[in-house]
Amino acid sequence: MVLKCVVCGREYPEDEVRYRCECGGLLEVVIDLDKVDTSIFNGKEIKLWKYESWLPVKKRVSLEEGGTPLYRLLNLESDLGVKELYAKNEGANPTGSFKDRGMTVGVSKALELGMDKVICASTGNTSASLAAYAAKAGIKAYVLIPSGKIALGKLAQAIIYGARVVPIKGNFDDALRVVVETSKELGIYMLNSINPFRLEGQKTIAYEIYDQLGKVPDNVILPVGNAGNISAIWKGFKEMYEAGVIDELPRMIGIQAEGASPLAKAWKEKRKFQPEESPETIASAIRIGNPANWIKAWRAVEESGGLFESVSDEEILRAQKLLASREGLFVEPASAASLAGLIKLLESGEISRNESYVLITTGHGLKDPNIVIKNFQVPEPIDPTLEAFKEVIE
Ligand SMILES: *Cc1c(COP(=O)(O)O)cnc(C)c1O
Ligand SMILES: [Zn+2]
Repeated sequence: MVLKCVVCGREYPEDEVRYRCECGGLLEVVIDLDKVDTSIFNGKEIKLWKYESWLPVKKRVSLEEGGTPLYRLLNLESDLGVKELYAKNEGANPTGSFKDRGMTVGVSKALELGMDKVICASTGNTSASLAAYAAKAGIKAYVLIPSGKIALGKLAQAIIYGARVVPIKGNFDDALRVVVETSKELGIYMLNSINPFRLEGQKTIAYEIYDQLGKVPDNVILPVGNAGNISAIWKGFKEMYEAGVIDELPRMIGIQAEGASPLAKAWKEKRKFQPEESPETIASAIRIGNPANWIKAWRAVEESGGLFESVSDEEILRAQKLLASREGLFVEPASAASLAGLIKLLESGEISRNESYVLITTGHGLKDPNIVIKNFQVPEPIDPTLEAFKEVIE
């Protein structure tokens, strides 16, 4: 196993603390596919560490992540007239988002490399997750967040797990820039998604989908922020393909919020990717103007025959409500972008109703309760009598 530059192909040993190639390109972990266990996809006892032989790490700092439910969304299937629709509910992870998959592997790697401090920039979920895994590992975590811009639940998590929370006067992209400089200067292990080991944990979403479904879905749809997760899931499917476990691949469909959609814009206008200056959306987890993993994500979409799309905040809120009220699935706004994107693409005819779709619902709805409460008028209290109650429900 080595680290390989996705731009120039140069290789580095896996035990070197390094996030980028000398040429500036992103690194990717190359797994030795001769050594993986291809017989484990039996639909049983599904959890992240089941796939240990596919993961580039020997230590294990775990909170029992993965094994999240794959729901069939029968009500929405019939509402939308789609052949097969599923949601992979990543909100069911230990800290309530898929970031736990990256952190169980990333923090394990930190220990393996002998690091005793970890750092990340975060729109919220990364900090909550890093803080929890650092606590479990007994090491120090620093998290830099855009001041005043992160959801309440996520902030509470980072605080209670004991991370050193540092708000930055700026947005996520500013925070990430400081983290990159700090980690180099002060020798603190960086666990943003440009760290290739994070993506190794997140690729297990692909393994689990195949393991749970017993087949490869036609399409995987997910929200795109820093663009690590779409790259990771595609890597997972490709590894299964190259190891001979599966003989087809899904299309990867990445959804951004309109106010933070540099990838979707470049894709639709058929031009080169360009970062955006002031990203804005209610979906704070994908409020990112300069996705660090854009090259990997672009390749994932291109190679898979997929596409990028963007959706408005109104479409996101409507989809969030639909998932909750039609399927009993409460997700945070960013996660609902996947369903919003599906609806938009079905209506425009760009994708077919006669295929199977897996939505990745990336984070739990309780992360960001204010979004819901803000749009809801709490009713006046009534007298504690049957009469009064009958009156209000009639
Ligand atoms: C981090 C996150 C995303 C975006 O994932 P990227 O890998 O940054 O593209 C989407 N939704 C939720 C809930 C997240 O926490
Ligand atoms: Zn390179």
